[in-house]
This record gives sequence, C-alpha cells and structure tokens, in this order.
Amino acid sequence: MLTINNLTKSFGRFRALDNVSVQLDEGQVVALIGPNGSGKTTLLKCILGLVIPDSGDIQLKGQNVLYHWGYRRSIGYMPQIGRYPDNMRVRQVFEVIREIRNSDETPDTELMEAFGVPQFENKMMRTLSGGTRQKVSACLAFLFNPPVLILDEPTAGLDPLSVEILKDKIQREKQKGKLILITSHILSDLDELTTHVLYLMDGKIRVHQSMDALKAETGEGKLNRAIAQLMKQDAHATH
Ligand code: ADP
Ligand code: MG
Repeated sequence: MLTINNLTKSFGRFRALDNVSVQLDEGQVVALIGPNGSGKTTLLKCILGLVIPDSGDIQLKGQNVLYHWGYRRSIGYMPQIGRYPDNMRVRQVFEVIREIRNSDETPDTELMEAFGVPQFENKMMRTLSGGTRQKVSACLAFLFNPPVLILDEPTAGLDPLSVEILKDKIQREKQKGKLILITSHILSDLDELTTHVLYLMDGKIRVHQSMDALKAETGEGKLNRAIAQLMKQDAHATH
C-alpha cells in the first residue's frame, strides 16, 4: 500500500535519511521507533509531502506521491505538536477544517464523542491544556475516515483514560484494514496494537519485523523488552 524506495534526505551535510526502503501494507500498525534524531519525523514528513527528499520515491497505492498532492486526502495526520489559531473556539476549528475539506462524506465523530468534545467545544484554543489540545488533534486525524493514519507521539500528554480511548479507536481502525503508522517513546502504549516494528538509527532502517517474528527472535513478549534485547545483540555484534 505504501512503498518507499531508496529514500535519502540531507540537511546540509547531515544525512537524516539514508537510503530507506520499506513496504507497508493495509491492516498493519507500524511502530516507528528509534533514538532522538534518528529520522522518524523526517520520514513521516516525507510521506506527507512536507519534506522533499533528495532522491528516492514514495508510492501510495502504486501512485507516486511527489508533487501529486491529492493523495494527502488519504492520510489522517496527528502532529506531535498541534498548532491552532489562539482565538478560535474548538467548535470553530472543526467547522473550518470541515469547510476546507469540502466533502459530502459523513465525518467520523466517534472519537469526538468518546473524548467528550461537546463539553469543551466553546473554549478558546489558547485556553486548552496540552492534553485537551492533543484530543483535538486526534479527533481531526480520524475525522475524514482516511485509509492511512500517521500519528506522531499520539499518547503524549493524555491522561490514562484518554490513552485507552485512543487505543480503542486505533484498534477499530486497524480492524477496518487501515495502515497506521505510530511513533511513540512510550512503547508499552503500543504493545497490544503493534503488528510491525520499524526501528530507525542514524537515518537507516535497523529493524523491520513483524511483532511475531520479533518476539520469536528475542524471546520477549513486550515491545520495549524485545527492542532492548535486539539492541543488546546489536552491540555484541559490532564490538
Ligand atoms: P526524530 O524524529 O527521529 O527525533 P528527526 O527526523 O526530527 O528525528 O531529525 C533527524 C535529524 O535531522 C536530526 O539530527 C535533526 O536535527 C535533523 N533535521 C531535521 N529537520 C531539519 C531541518 N529542517 N534542518 C536541519 N536539520 C534538520
Ligand atoms: Mg520526531
């Protein structure tokens, strides 16, 4: 569904992505992990067309995405930090986005209801706490029922109940056969959801494996332990 071929991106002399090739398919929940500065956000932004790669290409459903921006309708994006006009009410943000989208389709308001958006929809965006702002971003990502979801640190700042609500939503969308890409530092948040792990280091893919294969290889059931185990093996191999 999403094919990335030999993607390379440098900022000046620094190579943020180094010949990344990967194929991701429907129904997968891919945990995109790796140390700070390993290129995760750059990769996501390349997929979204917000960063233009130096070389390589990205295809969504067989269509090259570069300079063909129509494909963005197929992606719901929850940025790590959502930025909104300070003096807009929550309700207005949703209205404006729906207006811009100009779609006849019924929006997916499931998450808005689960998060109780109507209870704070008259508040100004600037008065919202970080977590409530995250809820708005999450609701927007799912609003137009996109076949692909890109969630950058979606659980950061959410209270435990809200994390569970969001996880339930991701689970339901996964079952509809969507492709979901998630970055998170809190790997335990991803345990039950993840089908595949994509581990980036210094702009290169170090691990791309199904959870089942990763568990079998490392003998660890939990994502964070499995990754730690893998890194240990890696350190032994290179020293
Ligand atoms: P991650 O999301 O894994 O923490 P990023 O993709 O944000 O990493 O960044 C990868 C590297 O590229 C970092 O060293 C970062 O400083 C650098 N980088 C990212 N965007 C830019 C930019 N616009 N200009 C210069 N350097 C950048
Ligand atoms: Mg990042």
